[in-house]
Amino acid sequence: MEVPNFGTVVVCPYNSAHQIIAERMQKHLVKCRRQYPNAKMAACPFNNAHHVPEQELNLHTKNCPNRDEMESFKYAIATNAAPLPQKGIYVRADGTTVEAETAPTDDMPVDEENWDDMDAAPYNPAKYCANNLIIRKATHMTAAEKRQFYEDERVRHDMLRKRNV
Ligand SMILES: [Zn+2]
Ligand SMILES: [Zn+2]
Repeated sequence: MEVPNFGTVVVCPYNSAHQIIAERMQKHLVKCRRQYPNAKMAACPFNNAHHVPEQELNLHTKNCPNRDEMESFKYAIATNAAPLPQKGIYVRADGTTVEAETAPTDDMPVDEENWDDMDAAPYNPAKYCANNLIIRKATHMTAAEKRQFYEDERVRHDMLRKRNV
Protein backbone atom coordinates (compact mmCIF):
# COMPACT_ATOMS: atom_id res chain seq x y z
CA MET A 1 0.00 0.00 0.00
CA GLU A 2 1.45 3.33 -1.05
CA VAL A 3 0.59 6.42 0.97
CA PRO A 4 1.62 9.84 -0.45
CA ASN A 5 4.56 11.37 1.45
CA PHE A 6 4.87 8.24 3.60
CA GLY A 7 6.36 5.63 1.31
CA THR A 8 5.34 2.02 1.65
CA VAL A 9 2.98 1.36 4.52
CA VAL A 10 2.45 -2.14 5.80
CA VAL A 11 -0.46 -3.39 7.85
CA CYS A 12 0.66 -4.83 11.17
CA PRO A 13 -0.03 -8.57 11.29
CA TYR A 14 -1.09 -8.28 14.95
CA ASN A 15 -3.61 -5.49 14.48
CA SER A 16 -4.86 -4.31 11.11
CA ALA A 17 -5.47 -0.88 12.64
CA HIS A 18 -1.67 -0.46 12.81
CA GLN A 19 -0.44 0.82 9.49
CA ILE A 20 3.29 1.08 9.74
CA ILE A 21 5.92 2.49 7.40
CA ALA A 22 7.85 -0.49 6.09
CA GLU A 23 11.20 0.68 7.44
CA ARG A 24 9.77 0.89 10.95
CA MET A 25 7.91 -2.37 10.83
CA GLN A 26 10.66 -4.41 12.45
CA LYS A 27 10.78 -2.15 15.50
CA HIS A 28 7.01 -1.99 15.67
CA LEU A 29 6.68 -5.75 15.59
CA VAL A 30 9.01 -6.16 18.54
CA LYS A 31 6.86 -3.83 20.60
CA CYS A 32 3.51 -4.96 19.21
CA ARG A 33 4.24 -8.63 19.73
CA ARG A 34 4.44 -8.02 23.49
CA GLN A 35 0.89 -6.72 23.43
CA TYR A 36 -0.34 -9.88 21.77
CA PRO A 37 1.52 -12.64 23.64
CA ASN A 38 -1.15 -15.18 22.73
CA ALA A 39 -1.16 -14.41 19.03
CA LYS A 40 -0.28 -17.52 17.04
CA MET A 41 2.27 -15.67 14.97
CA ALA A 42 5.68 -16.81 13.86
CA ALA A 43 8.66 -14.73 12.80
CA CYS A 44 10.00 -15.37 9.33
CA PRO A 45 13.49 -16.90 9.57
CA PHE A 46 14.64 -14.79 6.61
CA ASN A 47 13.41 -11.38 7.74
CA ASN A 48 12.25 -10.57 11.26
CA ALA A 49 10.05 -7.80 9.91
CA HIS A 50 7.87 -10.62 8.58
CA HIS A 51 5.50 -11.94 11.22
CA VAL A 52 2.95 -14.34 9.79
CA PRO A 53 0.29 -16.65 11.26
CA GLU A 54 1.95 -19.88 12.37
CA GLN A 55 0.00 -22.01 9.92
CA GLU A 56 1.16 -19.78 7.06
CA LEU A 57 4.83 -19.78 7.99
CA ASN A 58 5.69 -22.73 5.74
CA LEU A 59 4.03 -21.07 2.78
CA HIS A 60 5.68 -17.76 3.61
CA THR A 61 9.19 -19.17 3.93
CA LYS A 62 8.79 -20.83 0.52
CA ASN A 63 7.86 -17.52 -1.07
CA CYS A 64 9.69 -15.01 1.13
CA PRO A 65 11.49 -12.40 -0.99
CA ASN A 66 14.43 -12.53 1.43
CA ARG A 67 14.80 -16.27 1.11
CA ASP A 68 17.57 -16.32 -1.51
CA GLU A 69 19.96 -13.94 0.24
CA MET A 70 19.49 -15.83 3.48
CA GLU A 71 20.10 -19.19 1.83
CA SER A 72 23.58 -18.16 0.74
CA PHE A 73 24.18 -16.60 4.15
CA LYS A 74 23.20 -19.82 5.88
CA TYR A 75 25.46 -21.79 3.57
CA ALA A 76 28.42 -19.59 4.47
CA ILE A 77 27.74 -20.13 8.16
CA ALA A 78 27.42 -23.87 7.74
CA THR A 79 30.75 -23.99 5.91
CA ASN A 80 32.52 -21.96 8.56
CA ALA A 81 30.91 -23.83 11.42
CA ALA A 82 31.90 -27.27 10.10
CA PRO A 83 33.95 -29.14 12.69
CA LEU A 84 37.66 -28.78 12.22
CA PRO A 85 39.30 -31.81 10.63
CA GLN A 86 40.71 -34.10 13.26
CA LYS A 87 43.78 -36.03 12.31
CA GLY A 88 43.84 -39.54 13.64
CA ILE A 89 43.98 -43.24 12.95
CA TYR A 90 40.77 -44.68 11.63
CA VAL A 91 39.84 -48.30 11.07
CA ARG A 92 38.40 -49.07 7.69
CA ALA A 93 35.62 -51.58 7.02
CA ASP A 94 38.10 -54.29 6.00
CA GLY A 95 40.00 -53.98 9.29
CA THR A 96 42.98 -52.08 7.94
CA THR A 97 43.82 -48.74 9.49
CA VAL A 98 44.42 -45.43 7.83
CA GLU A 99 45.73 -42.11 9.06
CA ALA A 100 43.36 -39.43 7.88
CA GLU A 101 42.29 -35.87 8.55
CA THR A 102 38.70 -36.92 9.17
CA ALA A 103 36.91 -40.15 9.90
CA PRO A 104 35.93 -41.78 6.62
CA THR A 105 32.20 -42.36 6.49
CA ASP A 106 29.87 -43.95 3.99
CA ASP A 107 28.13 -40.71 3.08
CA MET A 108 31.37 -38.78 2.73
CA PRO A 109 33.27 -39.75 -0.40
CA VAL A 110 36.93 -40.19 0.44
CA ASP A 111 39.58 -38.96 -1.92
CA GLU A 112 40.91 -42.06 -3.69
CA GLU A 113 44.41 -40.67 -3.78
CA ASN A 114 44.57 -40.51 0.00
CA TRP A 115 43.86 -44.22 0.25
CA ASP A 116 46.58 -45.02 -2.24
CA ASP A 117 49.10 -43.07 -0.18
CA MET A 118 48.43 -45.37 2.74
CA ASP A 119 48.94 -48.60 0.81
CA ALA A 120 52.44 -49.81 0.12
CA ALA A 121 51.55 -50.98 -3.37
CA PRO A 122 48.58 -50.69 -5.68
CA TYR A 123 45.98 -53.38 -5.17
CA ASN A 124 46.80 -56.53 -7.09
CA PRO A 125 44.08 -59.23 -6.94
CA ALA A 126 46.37 -62.10 -7.91
CA LYS A 127 48.97 -61.19 -5.33
CA TYR A 128 46.34 -60.60 -2.67
CA CYS A 129 44.83 -64.07 -3.16
CA ALA A 130 48.23 -65.75 -3.18
CA ASN A 131 49.20 -64.06 0.08
CA ASN A 132 45.95 -65.09 1.70
CA LEU A 133 46.53 -68.66 0.56
CA ILE A 134 49.93 -68.70 2.24
CA ILE A 135 48.48 -67.55 5.56
CA ARG A 136 45.71 -70.13 5.50
CA LYS A 137 47.75 -73.16 4.41
CA ALA A 138 50.98 -72.41 6.25
CA THR A 139 49.27 -72.58 9.64
CA HIS A 140 49.30 -76.39 9.89
CA MET A 141 52.63 -77.10 8.19
CA THR A 142 55.97 -78.18 9.57
CA ALA A 143 58.92 -75.85 9.06
CA ALA A 144 60.21 -77.93 6.15
CA GLU A 145 56.78 -78.03 4.52
CA LYS A 146 56.44 -74.30 4.95
CA ARG A 147 59.80 -73.69 3.35
CA GLN A 148 58.82 -75.87 0.40
CA PHE A 149 55.44 -74.17 0.20
CA TYR A 150 56.94 -70.69 0.15
CA GLU A 151 59.47 -71.81 -2.45
CA ASP A 152 56.62 -73.14 -4.59
CA GLU A 153 54.75 -69.88 -4.04
CA ARG A 154 57.81 -67.87 -5.03
CA VAL A 155 58.11 -69.82 -8.25
CA ARG A 156 54.41 -69.36 -8.90
CA HIS A 157 54.71 -65.62 -8.25
CA ASP A 158 57.68 -65.38 -10.59
CA MET A 159 55.67 -67.12 -13.28
CA LEU A 160 52.70 -64.80 -12.65
CA ARG A 161 54.94 -61.76 -12.81
CA LYS A 162 56.52 -62.88 -16.09
CA ARG A 163 53.12 -63.58 -17.55
CA ASN A 164 51.82 -60.16 -16.52
CA VAL A 165 54.81 -58.23 -17.82
ZN1 LIG B 1 1.06 -3.61 15.56
ZN1 LIG C 1 9.83 -13.50 5.11
